[in-house]
Amino acid sequence: MEIKSNNLKRQFDLHAEEYRRKAQEVLDSGWYILGSEVREFEKEFASYIGSKCCAGVASGMDALTIAFRILGVGKNDEVIVCSNAYIACVMGITLNGATPVFVEPDIYDNLDADKIEEKINSRTKAILAVHLYGQSCDMTKIRELAEKYDLKVVEDCAQAHGTTWKGKKCGSIGDIACWSFYPTKNLGAFGDGGAITTDDPEYDTQVRIIRNYGSKKIHYENDIIGMNSRLDEMQAGLLRVKLKYLDELNSERNRIAGRYLKEIDHPLIRPLLTRPGSNNVYHQFVVHCEKRDQLMNYLQDNGISTIIHYPIPPHLQKAYADLGYREGDFPIAEKYAKEVLSLPMYNGMRDDEIDYVIDKLNRFER
Ligand SMILES: *Cc1c(COP(=O)(O)O)cnc(C)c1O
Repeated sequence: MEIKSNNLKRQFDLHAEEYRRKAQEVLDSGWYILGSEVREFEKEFASYIGSKCCAGVASGMDALTIAFRILGVGKNDEVIVCSNAYIACVMGITLNGATPVFVEPDIYDNLDADKIEEKINSRTKAILAVHLYGQSCDMTKIRELAEKYDLKVVEDCAQAHGTTWKGKKCGSIGDIACWSFYPTKNLGAFGDGGAITTDDPEYDTQVRIIRNYGSKKIHYENDIIGMNSRLDEMQAGLLRVKLKYLDELNSERNRIAGRYLKEIDHPLIRPLLTRPGSNNVYHQFVVHCEKRDQLMNYLQDNGISTIIHYPIPPHLQKAYADLGYREGDFPIAEKYAKEVLSLPMYNGMRDDEIDYVIDKLNRFER
């Protein structure tokens, strides 16, 4: 049997007719950028998250870049971020001229809130809470620290559409939240897309100005040097269709994860557990295995594709050589990079496929 790590066609097929109808509608409308689909999506997504405002942008990376810019985080400023973050999280910080300060992850593979305080100094301006793999960081502790030291909290929700912390949706907890609608995300578009949610209308206005060349109006009056970072009508329209089914899609992921958690039975394979207080939308189903590379090759030999999220931590990337870090500086992130493996997880995954993956995992050499 051939099983891909992700299979986006299956998710499309679940509601194909509705997507086709919406695409046709947008094509027929004759209006393709910043129109009614984007306006309606922004309203619907803000309401789903429980935030006062939402502004669409072109990608998750742009959302991060714009968020730090709006908060005034730049040169000589520091931002706390987990050492096993996705590279885009760090780039959103450094594109503004600020410095990432890495904090090791905890046993839930997310920012260890107990290790943040020792890294805070007079230059620290913000904490970037990346809700990695589908579960929430400890937002209670993070907010307490932010209040104590007067820091901003930015949430990276690119892997957390529908995730909650103590019953409140991620993306409505920090000062500003960044979203990606890259096709593989739980709420994925059919191309690139992103958004920023916030309760502060002033931040929201700033996003709208920056995303449109620094102009408040649609055309030709520019107050600041902005960007072209807009969610387009086609993506917004298709996202409106998918948003209606997001909770259902996340439940299906939970059903698959439930089977993995219950039926994977191997001394060398440790599925990542979920932090008490958070739910999990299983953007990825991650296992840790000390023989990860062998496991990955073995699964591939049996037709099962898996992915490593992520094989090189940001501090060891060539792009960040000038930060001056070396191997050994963040041993937990480095260990995780050698151990983590994301199992196949996608909407529309069939029971016989789940059976097959579990059976092969349990037969891995002991
Ligand atoms: C995907 C992702 C991003 C970047 O989003 P893009 O839309 O691909 O730019 C940022 N942070 C995290 C945690 C992500 O998973």
